[in-house]
Amino acid sequence: MIKNKFKIISLIFAIIFMFSCKKVNKSSSDHLPTLKGKKILMVFGGWEGHHPAVFVTKVSKWLEAAGAQITQSDSLEVYTNKKIMDATDLIIQYWTMGEITKEQFRGLENAVKRGVGLAGCHGGLGDSFRNNPEYQYMIGGQWVEHPGGKIDYTINVIDNNDPISDGIKDFEIKDTEQYYMHIDPNTKVLATTKFTDSIHTWIKGRVIPVAWKTYYGNGRVFYLSIGHNPKDFNTLGAKELLFRGIKWASGSKYEPIENTLKAVYE
Ligand SMILES: [Zn+2]
Repeated sequence: MIKNKFKIISLIFAIIFMFSCKKVNKSSSDHLPTLKGKKILMVFGGWEGHHPAVFVTKVSKWLEAAGAQITQSDSLEVYTNKKIMDATDLIIQYWTMGEITKEQFRGLENAVKRGVGLAGCHGGLGDSFRNNPEYQYMIGGQWVEHPGGKIDYTINVIDNNDPISDGIKDFEIKDTEQYYMHIDPNTKVLATTKFTDSIHTWIKGRVIPVAWKTYYGNGRVFYLSIGHNPKDFNTLGAKELLFRGIKWASGSKYEPIENTLKAVYE
């Protein structure tokens, strides 16, 4: 009898727990813009070591399944095509290093200023066009090092109120690059990573942002530093951060400007 009572009480607690979990997950992604009908331009190229074509194929599948219309371009010249840029809601760029011409950059910059969103990850957005500081001004950060090359490390989700990161637990990612970045301390940081002393002793305990959101003009900009290999997105937390960040950035033409200012130094 007591045993049965205990079982019933446990069951009630389990049901309450399940519902409260559902509530947390519901609140997280329900506030993000839908991808249904959104026009997304995916621009890929640059250093082949980041497998740009594989990345674009993988991410296109998620976005198409969510109802987005995808246009792919393996040329930066697309940024000068005003007709395409005007019809685009979001640009996802995966272009490591390389060079961008003045005209191509103006096309990209003007589109984002007007309200086209910009999202991406790793070197494809955070280490493109090293000779262009204006580009870095737009992204809010630039890769500078990945100590130790491919390693295992932990991502700490630090913002549990933002719909991009809400409900995502800290997670570990294996055999990939931990980005050390120089970043604009006014971006809204959603996740971070802490460095150990295994390669460069002096960086032990330093914390560097992994995911952030910001604005450039009217355009929403989302960046995630994970993604040295497209397989990184087989890790659920990594996929979720990128997918939700893409959703958020796709809404800048349709949603009011959000306050993403989180100044570190005041
Ligand atoms: Zn890399």
